[in-house]
Amino acid sequence: MKKQHFIANAWSAASEGESIPVIDPSNGCSLGEIARGSRRDVDAAVAAARAAIGETFDGPWGRLSACQRGRVMYRFAQSIIAHAAELAELEACDTGKSTKTARADAAALARYFEYYAGACDKLHGETLPYEAGYMVMTVREPHGVTAHIVPWNYPMQIFGRTVAASLAAGNACVVKPAEDASLSLLRLAELAAEAGFAPGALNVVTGYGHEAGAWLTAHAGIDHISFTGSTVTGRLVAEAAARRHCPVTLELGGKSPQIVFDDADLDAALPAIVNAIVQNAGQTCSAGSRLLVQRSVYEKLLDALADRFRTLQSGPPALDLDMGPLVNRRQYEQVKAILARAEADGIRVMMRGRIHPQATSSGFYQEAVLLRDVPHEHSIAQEEIFGPVLAAMPFDDEEEAVRLANGTDYGLVAGVWTRDGARQLRVARKLRCGQVFVNNYGAAGGVELPFGGVKSSGHGREKGFEALLGFTVLKTIAVRHG
Ligand code: NAD
Repeated sequence: MKKQHFIANAWSAASEGESIPVIDPSNGCSLGEIARGSRRDVDAAVAAARAAIGETFDGPWGRLSACQRGRVMYRFAQSIIAHAAELAELEACDTGKSTKTARADAAALARYFEYYAGACDKLHGETLPYEAGYMVMTVREPHGVTAHIVPWNYPMQIFGRTVAASLAAGNACVVKPAEDASLSLLRLAELAAEAGFAPGALNVVTGYGHEAGAWLTAHAGIDHISFTGSTVTGRLVAEAAARRHCPVTLELGGKSPQIVFDDADLDAALPAIVNAIVQNAGQTCSAGSRLLVQRSVYEKLLDALADRFRTLQSGPPALDLDMGPLVNRRQYEQVKAILARAEADGIRVMMRGRIHPQATSSGFYQEAVLLRDVPHEHSIAQEEIFGPVLAAMPFDDEEEAVRLANGTDYGLVAGVWTRDGARQLRVARKLRCGQVFVNNYGAAGGVELPFGGVKSSGHGREKGFEALLGFTVLKTIAVRHG
């Protein structure tokens, strides 16, 4: 398998002929190669997108009515549903996620396009009361060409939530998938062309982040950048954007707490706590990686969790176990090193899961790990691990719970488990993060629910109608009619 870029509805060979190997994380073997994007490739993709929009929104994509855009997007959503099994298989072998997780991701991707297809013609400005003799209105216009830097943990879902919103607002897109997980997005670009998107409306350039990614985010032809990935790279992208005063949305992960009070329904909380850390083998920006438990129920909940962790299995994606392998050797070695450092610092492993016997030793398998009594200040309670590692610690009262929950550089998501209605609202309002889930975690995905962070988790909002607004520029038109 040798994959090219997809630009202006056609496959396009790497201009310098170079490629990047595609590694199967379940066994470390090569699956083929993708194109290593050059400056010329990035230029070609941006030029195609600009032509699709047109100088004054008069290009083949730019001149479509909102209703026409919505119809194309809806056709694409239907095509995604029809090709869900194929897309899920590509995603599973590229990223190592279980087939069932990849299928859920394909379903969510289709849902993003459905949601935003229906939103295209509900996006409007306002008329504003102003001085006599004036008629003042606002109109929402697309930025123009938007760049989308997508990470490897949820390629299809993150493509869905940023690209669908951008296209719905009338922008043309250039997507740079992660070098570790490009296959599903290349196939999606091809399906989009078949669904009727104008040439250049959606382009995918593959390559390394420090090359194609950096060139794209610094490109003078880009009018908005949407980035999802690490805090460090997010800073580089924000700096590149600042040099051109280019708007940027950053989604940079977190160290999200699950807070369990002593009146919580522990039976309901337990599966949600486990799922929030083992989902996608912990490689989830909103993973519930910290567990804060009121002291009076701490031992009871941890004993129950340990029983569950003992049974958790990591294995080949096709077996559909609790977890597949981690995405690549670097991530695998990073998680191992973090765990070794924690153990050397005396942090107690309460329970480990298992690696399935069919998992080959050359694959990047990491068993689930439950850590107890983790000091709040320790790096394992402060830094994103991006692996199936849950750090548990006790708290005494509500004030301490909020202080611990807010006590990291991140602020993406939080879970609160309590039956006390007043406390639910009080704590939800005090948490510094973008989403709070009460007596659930993640609300089953929630395409409609605005999502994003504060502090080092980033800024700007994805998902829901809010994301659509972020992909527009508000223009005010004041007419003096006397
Ligand atoms: P990364 O942030 O470096 O990569 C994310 C994307 O950014 C990829 O497409 C990459 O090619 C691109 N990129 C890299 N350098 C770039 C640059 N200079 N300019 C523009 N684009 C660039 O993440 P990583 O190195 O693959 O993973 C490292 C850590 O990041 C993980 O361990 C995890 O903690 C975190 N991460 C977070 C998320 C998230 O959803 N928030 C996703 C992936 C990784």
